[in-house]
Amino acid sequence: MAVKFQTVTGMKDILPQESPLWQKVENVLKSTVSSYGYSEIRMPIVESTGLFVRSIGEVTDVVEKEMYTFDDNGDSLSLRPEGTAGCVRACVEHGIIHNQERRMWYTGPMFRHERPQKGRYREFHQFGVEIFGVAQPEMDAEVILLTSRIWKKFGIQDHLVLELNSLGSAQERAAYRDSLVEFLKSHEDVLDEDCRRRMYTNPLRVLDTKNNDIQKLLENAPKLSDCFGEDTRRHFNRLKEILDANGIAYRINERLVRGLDYYNNTVFEWVTDALGSQGTVCGGGRYDGLVEQLGGQPSPAVGFAIGLERFVLLLQTIGYSDVENAVDVFFCAQGDEAVKQSFAISENLRNDIPDLRLMLNCSGGNFKKQFKRADKSGAAYALVLGESELADGIIGIKNLRQESEQINVKISELTNELKKLLGA
Ligand code: ATP
Ligand code: MG
Repeated sequence: MAVKFQTVTGMKDILPQESPLWQKVENVLKSTVSSYGYSEIRMPIVESTGLFVRSIGEVTDVVEKEMYTFDDNGDSLSLRPEGTAGCVRACVEHGIIHNQERRMWYTGPMFRHERPQKGRYREFHQFGVEIFGVAQPEMDAEVILLTSRIWKKFGIQDHLVLELNSLGSAQERAAYRDSLVEFLKSHEDVLDEDCRRRMYTNPLRVLDTKNNDIQKLLENAPKLSDCFGEDTRRHFNRLKEILDANGIAYRINERLVRGLDYYNNTVFEWVTDALGSQGTVCGGGRYDGLVEQLGGQPSPAVGFAIGLERFVLLLQTIGYSDVENAVDVFFCAQGDEAVKQSFAISENLRNDIPDLRLMLNCSGGNFKKQFKRADKSGAAYALVLGESELADGIIGIKNLRQESEQINVKISELTNELKKLLGA
């Protein structure tokens, strides 16, 4: 008996009807980072488990319960849950950020064993940038401006709010941790199990609890910003100054600590209310200590990652539709000789008009049937070649999207006519 298989829980096919929007998103992202001079880096999907434990942090959702980890002949390996750790590993391994600035981007699938829901999958895709060797707040400003430019290119800037915070330095956080733990201890009875555990292992993570009662309690908690020294304040103020000067609105959210341990100073998220509770489309920040922690020469770093599923979902939710069809021209041919000729004519057209997207009818049928296929392909024009056209050395061009007469042109003139019609 035949067995039908289905996608694994939390994994998703991207079907041809959706892929044009994905391609549009990917193309705009790539051209935007190119316009800032960033280069691509590609990392493996599998890395040593220890890399993620060490960089993301032992007491984080990702490492505690979301990683796909397996044994490979005694080595513990994991599917990457995010891109930063692998990127730093690659840069240190190949010595490409040693005493130098580097601005890079990457894209690809990530894996986290989470409870699947709208905007949350077990395989998802990120597009991210990582910049090494620049400590100044100007770099933070650039990556935020870059993301803002992306939203504007899709006209979705009004659907996203920038949340901004500073986590200060490691020393400042250590000082804060003590006062926060003291506060949490005095309210231990109100805390849920997760927060009680975190209070000892990673108290800052209590700040981004989704438990509303605890959030209320935290309104009276000591503030991290009270522990900031001069450098942290200056860094954060300079960033805000540049954002202000460039018309980038933001909301300071002192509870924004982000899920991964490696951040310091600036952290930010772009959040939408159009996707329910999976509202964070992009998250990022500074991680100046990570390179050294992973065995490299100390190098300041900043980056962000966009969750592509959420980005695409947001575009679909707000009805974004500026996506091209896959086909410009559909070639209808009927009769043995005409069909044979249609191949050579098509190949010539593809030579002459490099960007042309031409689909050839390969499944027979009369012209009526072929026109239906032509219509369904989304093409703007159909080419029509029957025995009689062939005998006269002409070919028909039919506009599929406007009521108008078919025009006939000499086959030798076809390239020029199509170029004119398509504006190629
Ligand atoms: P969340 O709070 O939603 O769990 P996160 O803080 O775990 O997000 P990051 O590690 O910062 O997420 O990853 C950056 C972006 O990747 C997120 O803002 C989101 O858009 C996307 N992302 C993260 N996890 C998933 C997932 N399981 N499915 C789809 N997208 C995801
Ligand atoms: Mg998460």
